[in-house]
Amino acid sequence: MSDRAFKQAAQLLRQSRKTVALTGAGVSTESGIPDFRSRDGLWARFDPMEYGTLDAFRRDPAKVWQMLAELIGLADARPNAGHRAMSLLEQHGFLQGIITQNIDGLHQQAGSRRVVEFHGSLQSFSCPACGKGYVLEDIRRQAMPPRCTVCAAILKPDVVFFDEQIPPTALREAEELLAGADLLLVAGTSCQVAPAAYLPDMVLSRGGVLIEINPAPVLAGAAVVLAGGFSEMMERLVEELAIPGG
Ligand SMILES: [Zn+2]
Repeated sequence: MSDRAFKQAAQLLRQSRKTVALTGAGVSTESGIPDFRSRDGLWARFDPMEYGTLDAFRRDPAKVWQMLAELIGLADARPNAGHRAMSLLEQHGFLQGIITQNIDGLHQQAGSRRVVEFHGSLQSFSCPACGKGYVLEDIRRQAMPPRCTVCAAILKPDVVFFDEQIPPTALREAEELLAGADLLLVAGTSCQVAPAAYLPDMVLSRGGVLIEINPAPVLAGAAVVLAGGFSEMMERLVEELAIPGG
């Protein structure tokens, strides 16, 4: 990657009135969380129709927990240097918030404050029968599949299954965050899944610009492309912006 691209990206971040980041699986792979959609990812081993839908969960929650138990193991992951660099951007006023397709909570762990989770979170769980809420620590203390301590129903993670809609609150928060945004920093996602797929065009159509960070860039219309791994690209960007602690 040429220094020129980082200088251009830093310049766009300095000039922007409001910058929002859109992130996906690629920002968490360096934290040891494989892309679920990759060739040997989660969905290659568990048929999404049998393990990834609310319909399947209602039919046989214990079976779906065979897949969820593996996801819970991933919740031990730690934020990487890229997550930390992105939280520095927010702290120093270069970024107003993040919209993520990830359920791992790593942006928040890294210190990012405003994070919209399109696909929910693996940090919280609810009882489908009585509605009682649980946190990840409660689940870890239980045998699989974990059950409600009040009514004994099998618990459901607060993640969005394939046959579920994006939560209306997440959509509203994303709209609020994107209102007036003139720069979208896209990282670790090829933006193929709705609604994230529409966001780059939305920002472009309002006269905004895109910066893309992906090892194999795919976005049409990006003003600057940083082709490489998330951590390295973000660290070099923070360096270029001369942010202390970066
Ligand atoms: Zn219950």
